[in-house]
Amino acid sequence: MLVDAGVENRKAGNGSKRGTPVMVAGLEAMTNFDSTSVVLCDLDGVIWLAHQPIEGSVEAVSALREAGKRVLFVTNNSFSTYDQQVAALSSIGIDADGDVVTSAMAAASVMQAGWRVLVCGGEGLIEEVEKVGAEAVVPYRSRGASGPFDAVVVGFHREFDFEVLSDALTAVRHGAMLIGSNADPNYPTPNGPIPGGGSILAAVEKATGQSALVTGKPHQPMAQLVHRMCEGHGPQNMVMVGDLPETDGAFARTIGCRYALVLSGMTQSADGIDAEIVEPSLHHVAQRLLSP
Ligand SMILES: [Mg+2]
Repeated sequence: MLVDAGVENRKAGNGSKRGTPVMVAGLEAMTNFDSTSVVLCDLDGVIWLAHQPIEGSVEAVSALREAGKRVLFVTNNSFSTYDQQVAALSSIGIDADGDVVTSAMAAASVMQAGWRVLVCGGEGLIEEVEKVGAEAVVPYRSRGASGPFDAVVVGFHREFDFEVLSDALTAVRHGAMLIGSNADPNYPTPNGPIPGGGSILAAVEKATGQSALVTGKPHQPMAQLVHRMCEGHGPQNMVMVGDLPETDGAFARTIGCRYALVLSGMTQSADGIDAEIVEPSLHHVAQRLLSP
């Protein structure tokens, strides 16, 4: 069983918040005429920008849930822990426990209990590796940790340095499988982009000469995780909302669902982009999905 049992249990207590009136300009009194039953939402550029909610996003999530749709938050962030992601969403008024899928969870889903894993990543990745019953060895905490390792997993972390790279190289040379939580080159911040987990992964791939199994959006392990969390819902009833065509749009194709591009994040124009829905923001996507 590779899925985090805690997530499966947590989601049982979640669902649409029926019975609560939703007062959203333009979204009141709308009934569900669309076949969408699951809305997959990227976080950065859809729900918030640097944790500042994008106008109408919180109300849109409420309206979608009120209409009976499952809303899942699908993020390539592997640095924050599950509880930190839930708390951040809760702080802007979104109850997300049981509805968050991270690339750290996707990375852990390809591991097995009993594995010894060199975790070149942040707290979120360390936690998910331990949740599957693997041993997490953190190279920037245990300098010169000796092998063998079953896997090296790489995600965003600020402690990355020459020693971490050396330890990763040694572990892979001795047979460890190389796994990446995601391949995103940059991570957006209010002061402009900073290097993302994919830039660190690229250094490890270069040093080792190995291509990593990348698990986050837009890759299969994350898609399989979503499918397992949405049992009973087919891809034809899902829509992926995201601001990055190369990540979110490609993930929609991996899932086999529709892609709703929003222009509230990193992408400013829909020109030449393959998307079934294009809207300024999640609020407008919700309006469209909930309109007769
Ligand atoms: Mg985004």
